[in-house]
Amino acid sequence: MKNVGIVYQDIYAKHDTGNHPECADRVINTIKRLKENQMYGDNRIAHFKKIDPRKVSLDQIRWSHSNSLINKVNAAVETTIKKNSHVYIDGDTVASPATFDAALYATGGNFAAIDAIFSGEIDRGFALCRPPGHHSNKDYARGFCIFNNIALSVEYLTRVKKLNRVVIVDFDAHAGNGTEEIFYSGLEQGELLFFSIHQHPNTLYPGTCFVDDIGKGKQQGKIVNITLAPYSGQKSIELAFEQIIMPMLREFQPEFILCSAGFDAHHNDPLTNLGFMDQTYSYIIHELGRISDEFAKGRIQCTLEGGYNIKHLGNSITNVLNSLADDNPIFKETDDFSIRQKAEILEYTENKLIPQLKAILAPYWKAFH
Ligand SMILES: [Zn+2]
Repeated sequence: MKNVGIVYQDIYAKHDTGNHPECADRVINTIKRLKENQMYGDNRIAHFKKIDPRKVSLDQIRWSHSNSLINKVNAAVETTIKKNSHVYIDGDTVASPATFDAALYATGGNFAAIDAIFSGEIDRGFALCRPPGHHSNKDYARGFCIFNNIALSVEYLTRVKKLNRVVIVDFDAHAGNGTEEIFYSGLEQGELLFFSIHQHPNTLYPGTCFVDDIGKGKQQGKIVNITLAPYSGQKSIELAFEQIIMPMLREFQPEFILCSAGFDAHHNDPLTNLGFMDQTYSYIIHELGRISDEFAKGRIQCTLEGGYNIKHLGNSITNVLNSLADDNPIFKETDDFSIRQKAEILEYTENKLIPQLKAILAPYWKAFH
């Protein structure tokens, strides 16, 4: 069994978005679910550890973001305090009085977990944080996101922890467009392999990150957009792992695995249509766990992104935490192929999407020669 750190503090529930899918109940209810399953609180099983987040400095935020974005978020928060009402930073990203602090603690929660992994206190971590981050780029907070927690974690691992090869696996149903934009030309130090597994951008926000967006310069071939058709379901994700992700990970040999852990690909999610089940998330973590044990000293750090069905968010995160501990999923749904995995969609994944990805990536990866 592995020791798994869960990063949480009330500040994550204080980022108040009003009547909004990205709401405080997401983490409040998940904490309740974790307590029911003895993963959090006084009665927790010994291999689940509580990790306290810390604030990151603005200098660290500047690794991925401009002063103009920092000032914009600060100004929005000042206005919301003055007017005592929510302020929209973009069409769907809301600021409240606690937003700036919550965002600093969200990134800092990931840093604290990474520190705990490096000190040996835990093997793997999960930051149950808000606001999420993967849609934010250098200059814009957008898509419910403020600062890009996963991008900043990459910088922390390469600049401070001096790692050379880091992987991000973003399995949120929406493309990690902010992360992609930040790293499109590569890192200052070290190498990044970035997978974004998402519902095809022609059918869902943000409408970018297509299979032929593969990065440029030294990053070319190390950005991988796996654009699943709606209703792809668990079988499609298994194909993507077997044929694309696992061979690339074995070739890249990551020293650390980061996950943009979004749970809105679940079939009950109100915003998307990918058709994952609670146990799909266990499958993903189990596969990444094998790679982490082989190449990365077991090290995985997940940060919460989306996931808007409150009940299934709690179930799926519970499953992820168990998989991080190398244990079996608690929540298993019945696999109803006819509803969630249409045969023609699976055929599209197998005969179109995967061959297309292999062809595009073949010049950069021996696995596809
Ligand atoms: Zn999402």
